Amino acid sequence: MPKKVVVLGEAREGALRNVSFEAIAAAKKIANGGEVVGVLLGEDVQSLADEMIHHGADRVLIVQHPHLKYYTPDGFGQAFMAVYEQEQPEAVVFGHTALGKDLSPKIASKLGTGLISDVTGIEGESDDTVFIRPIYSGKAFEKVKNKDGLLFLTVRPNNIEPLEPDTSRTGDIVAVSIVIDSLRSIISEVIQKTSEGVDLSEAKVVVAGGRGVKSTEGFQQLQKLANLLGGAVGASRGACDADYCDYSLQIGQTGKVVTPDLYIAVGISGAIQHMAGMSNSKIIVAINKDPEANIFKVADYGIVGDLFEIVPLLVEEIERL
Ligand code: FAD
Repeated sequence: MPKKVVVLGEAREGALRNVSFEAIAAAKKIANGGEVVGVLLGEDVQSLADEMIHHGADRVLIVQHPHLKYYTPDGFGQAFMAVYEQEQPEAVVFGHTALGKDLSPKIASKLGTGLISDVTGIEGESDDTVFIRPIYSGKAFEKVKNKDGLLFLTVRPNNIEPLEPDTSRTGDIVAVSIVIDSLRSIISEVIQKTSEGVDLSEAKVVVAGGRGVKSTEGFQQLQKLANLLGGAVGASRGACDADYCDYSLQIGQTGKVVTPDLYIAVGISGAIQHMAGMSNSKIIVAINKDPEANIFKVADYGIVGDLFEIVPLLVEEIERL
């Protein structure tokens, strides 16, 4: 049966995040010929609506309000609920991002519905649709079916292929006016740390360093390699704890979960808590001087050797290409 599916688009620094397009692709599949409605919440997000339509949304609802300039669970919760009540969809899709992870359980509990979170694949169609999600820190996958009622899911970035954008697609873009009241907190300003280049959670290539990298200077060399490959730098908790890099780079159970096409683990032992955040990467390359290091168990390619010799060689070779 065709379904109406509402997708929350997520913007960062004035641009839609790729996961929004992946969520639309998931929504298209679930909609089964029904309508996909994009939703944009923010202070000034109108200009992003067309891009949602080009990627497959049939209609986009815009909720603009000064209190939505920055994400707060309260503000975004009230705004999303207003859209939900207006649309009464059969399904809702969010990205499994920091925002999606925070907001989706709040909305699900408000609606008294279940939540299929961190979906990495969708099989079958219509009432036989099955959602695949990793469990036990990525050691196994489970297949989940929505029994009845509202279908609510979050999709893990970098797993569901977005649709090819079609700039000739058109659709209605409609403003929804809301009253946001009694917010528990209002963010007046966000002071950003300067971060180089590509967003770690959506990067196609991640060069991650561990305690073996030994210093901030060592991480600069990894940044060089990441830049050459159009990727982002990540880290183990060991490296963050040692103050070689910022905690925002931490990958793993208590850090970010990444699924790039290529993950290069440099001087990382491969603790289970680290692997929870990267073991579903498509190709894993490990560089470690210890041939018994656990990371080699998940690596597709392993280089046993001193990272301080291997990384500069890699940089040199790639620069020559
Ligand atoms: P180490 O285990 O010290 O490994 C360093 C590696 O570098 C070694 O394998 C060594 O052989 C290699 N090496 C050293 N010198 C060189 C060289 N010159 N050339 C090549 N290789 C070299 N960890 C995470 O990463 N992410 C998490 O989210 C996370 N969450 C946790 C949550 C909990 C509740 C707990 C208890 C722990 C968590 N940890 C997490 C920590 C985790 O258990 C490990 O301690 C951590 O991942 C180790 O980091 P590491 O691999 O960089 O360091």
